[in-house]
Amino acid sequence: MLQTTAERHGKGWLINGTKAFITGAQGASVGIVMARTGPTDKIQSTMFLVDLPHPSIRIERILDTIDSSMPGGHAIVAIEALWVPDDQVLGEVHEGFRYAQVRLAPARLSHCMRWHGAATRAHEIATDYATTRKAFGKLLVDHEGVGFMLAENAIDLKQAELMIDWCASVLDGGMLGTIESSMAKVAVSDALFRVADRCVQVMGGTGVSRDTVVEQIFREIRAFRIYDGPTEVHKWSIAKQIKRQALDGATK
Ligand SMILES: Cc1cc2nc3c(=O)[nH]c(=O)nc-3n(C[C@H](O)[C@H](O)[C@H](O)COP(=O)(O)OP(=O)(O)OC[C@H]3O[C@@H](n4cnc5c(N)ncnc54)[C@H](O)[C@@H]3O)c2cc1C
Repeated sequence: MLQTTAERHGKGWLINGTKAFITGAQGASVGIVMARTGPTDKIQSTMFLVDLPHPSIRIERILDTIDSSMPGGHAIVAIEALWVPDDQVLGEVHEGFRYAQVRLAPARLSHCMRWHGAATRAHEIATDYATTRKAFGKLLVDHEGVGFMLAENAIDLKQAELMIDWCASVLDGGMLGTIESSMAKVAVSDALFRVADRCVQVMGGTGVSRDTVVEQIFREIRAFRIYDGPTEVHKWSIAKQIKRQALDGATK
């Protein structure tokens, strides 16, 4: 759905567009601008390296979002008559989409690892709470409803870890495709969100207070099911691959 365009202009390119949710744009000293360079019915795009701040790149505003840990926050950026010379094309013209996919696969995996660590920390804090606080005559963990939430956390954390290990081993073999990283991203982001949500529940009112980091982890992890592709978009692209393989198989 890329709308920003780059058109040939002298020995360079003239770029116009607007992009929401550019994490870290505020304070960045270099940016990668991605723009359409082909006809509108084709996914042809090119990446450009740009020094920041730049008079033709304006931060319209920083969005007020649920998360708070990303330096610079998430900006809406307007690009107006930005001219860049040919030597600022990153790689080859028209290859931007392919480069983005290559970068996104391992980037998604590192998000999975980072949030797995955060969810594990939340689980440890919730476990500590449930094994020290008593309610209605016994430790919280001895109430089946609470013990089961911690058990489900342990299962989700282990399954997420195995998915990350599998995806990392494919990457080590130099084979990481976008489909593998899509599968890992969906499975891990959904599982870790469930873990963080249960941690809040196990800790009752304390879970939503800022007395511990659990509240922040819950907020931060929510956005991970959306950025680097929402769960539904990854499932859509996995389904397209399944269809392709099935139709290929039928014609052989
Ligand atoms: C905290 C945060 C940081 C971000 N940082 C960056 C960044 O640094 N750089 C950058 O380029 N982008 C960034 N993004 C943007 C992010 O990639 C998009 O928000 C995401 O791809 C979803 O696009 P959208 O917000 O336009 O949602 P929409 O396109 O409006 O989609 C809304 C919902 O519709 C559903 N949906 C959409 N398409 C389909 C489909 N094909 N099939 C089924 N369901 C579908 C999904 O459930 C989706 O959540 C960031 C987003 C967030 C929340």
